[in-house]
Amino acid sequence: LQEASVERHIAMFTFPFASHPSTLLALTRRLAAAAVGSPPSSTVFSFFSTERSNSALFRADSSLASLNIRPFNVHDGLPEGYVPRSDPKRMWLQAEPMHLFIRAAPANLRRAAAEAEDAVGCRISCVVSDAFLWVAGSLAEERGVPWVAVRTGGPRSLVAHFQIQMIPSTIRHLATIGSEDPEVPDFIPGFSSTECRDLPDGNGSILHSMARNLHRATAIVVNSFEEADPVITQQLHSKFQNYLSVGPFGLLPQATSSPNKYFSHDPNGCIPWLECHEPNSVVYISFGTIVKPKTSELMALMESLTETGHPFLWSFCGDLVEELSIISGGNLAVMEKALVRGKMVRWAPQLAVLRHPSVGVFVTHCGWNSLLESIAGGVPMIGRPFFADQPLNQTTMEDEWKIGLGVEGGVFTKQGTVRALEMVLSREEGKKMRLRVGALNDALVKSMEPDGSSSQNFNKLMMEIFNSKKL
Ligand code: UDP
Repeated sequence: LQEASVERHIAMFTFPFASHPSTLLALTRRLAAAAVGSPPSSTVFSFFSTERSNSALFRADSSLASLNIRPFNVHDGLPEGYVPRSDPKRMWLQAEPMHLFIRAAPANLRRAAAEAEDAVGCRISCVVSDAFLWVAGSLAEERGVPWVAVRTGGPRSLVAHFQIQMIPSTIRHLATIGSEDPEVPDFIPGFSSTECRDLPDGNGSILHSMARNLHRATAIVVNSFEEADPVITQQLHSKFQNYLSVGPFGLLPQATSSPNKYFSHDPNGCIPWLECHEPNSVVYISFGTIVKPKTSELMALMESLTETGHPFLWSFCGDLVEELSIISGGNLAVMEKALVRGKMVRWAPQLAVLRHPSVGVFVTHCGWNSLLESIAGGVPMIGRPFFADQPLNQTTMEDEWKIGLGVEGGVFTKQGTVRALEMVLSREEGKKMRLRVGALNDALVKSMEPDGSSSQNFNKLMMEIFNSKKL
C-alpha cells in the first residue's frame, strides 16, 4: 500500500489481557475485509496492543498485513523490573498488571496514536476500543472523531455492570423488610434466576469506569447475537441509541479468502485425534487464556476422567510439562493411567474442536467466547466459573438457555464431576441440553445470514466507522 493513498485511518485499541485482543482482532479482520472489498480500499486499521500481545497475534497470521491491519505497540505500564504478585485469594488471576496498564493508559495510548498517525501518514478518523478503555473515548473527543466502544463479553454482563451499584442497597433493603431470599435480584428485568453472588465482580475500578463512560460512545458493539438474549437486548436498546449486537465476532463470515489462522491452527493434531473417536464421546476441557485452577481441583477433574473412562482432549494455557506434573501430583503412574484415553495440548483450535462431531461435552471456565463457540459447535457444557463475568455467564448457560450445568458446589470434586459428566453424556437431560444448544446454534447461524440481525447490525457499524469524519 502506498502511504499517499491512505484515506481513512481507523484506530482499534484493545485491552491487552486474556482473549480481549484476539476477540477485537476478529472484529477488525471482518471490518478490514469489508473495506478491502469495497470502495474505501485505502483504509488502514491500526491495531493497538502491548508488544507481547501484538507479537503473538501478528506472528500467528501473516494475512493481517494484506488486510491493511497494522500492529502498533502500547507500553504495558509496568514499572522497570516488575515481578507479578499473586493474590492468595484469587490464585487463578493476576489482576495487578491490568490495573497498572489502565493507570498508565491515558499517556501511553496518546503516544502510540501519534506514532501511528506519523507512520500511516493520515490522521485517525474513528476510534474503536475495548469498552474497558474509556480513556480511548477521551482521545476520540480530543480529536473530534467518533468513539465506538466494543464489549468483547456478553450483553447480560453489560447490564449487570450498570445495575451493580444499586444492588447492595437494594439487598440491604430486602433484608430489612424480612425478604426470605434477599439474594435474588429480581429488580433487574431478565435476571430473575440469577443470584447476587453470580453477578460480575463490580469492585474493579475498570468496570465502574466503563459503566460510567459508555454513554459517551457514538455506538456500542457487543460480541453476541440479539436472539441469544432478547430481553436484555431490548433493555440495552432502550438505554443506548446505537446499540449493535454484531457477534459472535470470531464467526462473522469472512469476506476474503484469508481464514483466521489464530483459531484454525492445529499444531498438536487435535482434529486428527478427534477423528478416531465415536460421535459425542469426547470431553473437551479448556479454561481459556488466563485462568489456572488450583492443583487440588485439577487433580479431582483428572480423577473423574479416569473413573468414568471418557476420552478427553485438554488444552492448557500454561507450561505443559509443569501443568502435567501438577495435575498428577508428581505421580507418573496417575498420569499414564489417565493419558491412555486422553490428549493434553498447549493449544487447541477450539472452534474447530467444538464443531467436531466427536466432542460430547465442554468443561469450561465459562468465558464468553467459549460459551459462544460451544453454541456454534452444538455442544452442552459443564461450567466451573472463576471471576469477572464467568459466574454470570454460567447462570445464563445453565438457567436461561438450559444447555449445560455448573459443577456441584462451584468447584471440581471427583464425585461431583463424575455426576456432571454422566448427566451430560449419558442421561436424558443431557440429550435435551444437546437439542436446546442445537436450536440456539440455528438462531446464531440465522443471525449471520445477509438479512440476519448480526449482519444487519454489522452493516450499521460499517456506516458508523467508514463514514466517520475524515480529517
Ligand atoms: N482458545 C483456543 N484454544 C485454546 C484455548 C483457548 O482457541 O487452546 C480460544 C477460544 O477459542 C476462545 C478464547 O481462546 O476464543 C478464550 O476466550 P474466552 O472468552 O472463553 O476466555 P478468556 O481467555 O478470555 O478467559
